[in-house]
Amino acid sequence: MRMRKWLIVIALILVFVLSVFCGFMVKSYINFSKKGSENNAILAENTQENKAVNTASAEITVSPNSEVIMTQKFNKCGHTVTKREEAPREIVNLNREKVQEYFEGWNIDKFTPNEIEISKEVSGICGEHYVLRESDGYISISTKNDIGEYIFKGLTDIPVQYLPEDDLNNLEKGIEIVGRDNLNRFLEDFE
Ligand SMILES: [Zn+2]
Repeated sequence: MRMRKWLIVIALILVFVLSVFCGFMVKSYINFSKKGSENNAILAENTQENKAVNTASAEITVSPNSEVIMTQKFNKCGHTVTKREEAPREIVNLNREKVQEYFEGWNIDKFTPNEIEISKEVSGICGEHYVLRESDGYISISTKNDIGEYIFKGLTDIPVQYLPEDDLNNLEKGIEIVGRDNLNRFLEDFE
């Protein structure tokens, strides 16, 4: 009878120890899986951030009223010629990658929805090397090409008839002017 009492006590102690042990195990398991899910949450957040960054860069596309600024650098004369024009319809809504494909051979220096700047180096001289001469009684304009040839562009409406002798002599030799603005300024002086 006494022996049985002891057995019950031992059994109770065992049950107590076991339940404490089990409780501990369960608690640490919960902690562990909590940490796991926390890590997963962080991972998911990062993935989302990455996605956001990716979409942001992919989302820059050409807007319909965008402009393209094209700069050509001519290696023989060192001049740059810049043109600004409306973006061609073909590139509207395209991203940088596709626009680069369209402007093959050009560098994209700036890419925003409303403005795209591209540039490239070109061999030879720019088309703004002018030579003024006298043709058919008027001042004529020619441009010089890469190999030093003069290409006739047309006559101005400035007659040479009343020009001073110095000007006539210079026109005889050919007056070289570089740049469209300089040309216009020079011709304005005659008018
Ligand atoms: Zn030039």
